[in-house]
Amino acid sequence: MERTELLIIGAGAAGISAASAAWDAGCRDIILTDRLPYPGGVLPQCLHEGFGLAAYGSELTGPAYAARLAERLAQTGVRFLPGREVLAVTKEKTAVLSGSGGLEEIRFERLILATGSRERTVGSLALAGTRPAGVFTAGQAQEMINLHHWQLGDRIVILGSGDLGMILARRFTLEGKQVLAVLEQEAHFGGLARNYHRCIEAHHIPIRYRCTVREIHGMPRITGVTVEDLDSGERELLSCDTLITAVGLVPERELIHGLEEAPWLSLAGNCSRVHDLADSAAAEGAKIGGQVGRQLIK
Ligand SMILES: Cc1cc2nc3c(=O)[nH]c(=O)nc-3n(C[C@H](O)[C@H](O)[C@H](O)COP(=O)(O)OP(=O)(O)OC[C@H]3O[C@@H](n4cnc5c(N)ncnc54)[C@H](O)[C@@H]3O)c2cc1C
Repeated sequence: MERTELLIIGAGAAGISAASAAWDAGCRDIILTDRLPYPGGVLPQCLHEGFGLAAYGSELTGPAYAARLAERLAQTGVRFLPGREVLAVTKEKTAVLSGSGGLEEIRFERLILATGSRERTVGSLALAGTRPAGVFTAGQAQEMINLHHWQLGDRIVILGSGDLGMILARRFTLEGKQVLAVLEQEAHFGGLARNYHRCIEAHHIPIRYRCTVREIHGMPRITGVTVEDLDSGERELLSCDTLITAVGLVPERELIHGLEEAPWLSLAGNCSRVHDLADSAAAEGAKIGGQVGRQLIK
């Protein structure tokens, strides 16, 4: 069994920053691991600019921001183990990892969980109808379009006007697809004002407030959705071939269920609370990593 003083699970903005800061604090035995084959977490799929204004004083794309974090990590002696899914963490301070070489166990002194967040799916919504092909979460869609260059559909409805929903609406528009509507249950958009101006306003994408999707139609592929006006109760059928749900992120911390009070555990980034900005997730990671690193060398 491998041993390390500090194990960090998740190599997104928070995990990389935590590892670099722990190294800078003097800790010399650090393993950073991720299920993905590359560092950066969600950043490499975010091709838009808007990252790093606080940390670097300029707006970078997600991949450029990830590259800066990775460069800093490369200047340390942190061991990065990509392509490993952590399956379990035990109270005996052991993590069980699954990778192409099979199962591995790592025993640690301290653990920083930096596993990010996951999207709420269509299954978590009170929607009538079946779940045909053509229904995606925003993050899935972003990954398929930006990293794999797949075509998902031509006539798009987006449910949710948070940052993810608005950024996806622009992405589809730039791909030449028709975004029929961004639907929002509140009376105002949910994301950052800058994303509203750059994504929705600048591309004249229709946004409809105080409404939601009540039913999904079609099989095997979606053919439309029933949209309900939440004030009048009126319903209308909107024909579409793709529905994107952008209805929120949930901190990903199932791995530490029952271990939340363990004195050897710290959380950083979106698994602790969802951060709108990568700079904020990275800053939290650096703060936690520095603290844990200093405690370990005492
Ligand atoms: C679509 C989108 C657009 C955004 N746009 C902007 C923007 O314009 N500007 C901005 O500043 N911020 C933006 N953000 C926010 C910012 O990207 C995030 O807040 C930040 O990157 C989160 O970092 P993190 O390290 O907490 O999580 P993540 O980047 O999600 O990293 C978590 C990592 O943990 C790994 N992991 C999870 N579970 C396991 C496991 N069991 N075993 C191994 N590895 C595991 C994952 O593979 C992942 O690599 C955006 C976010 C999204 C989703």
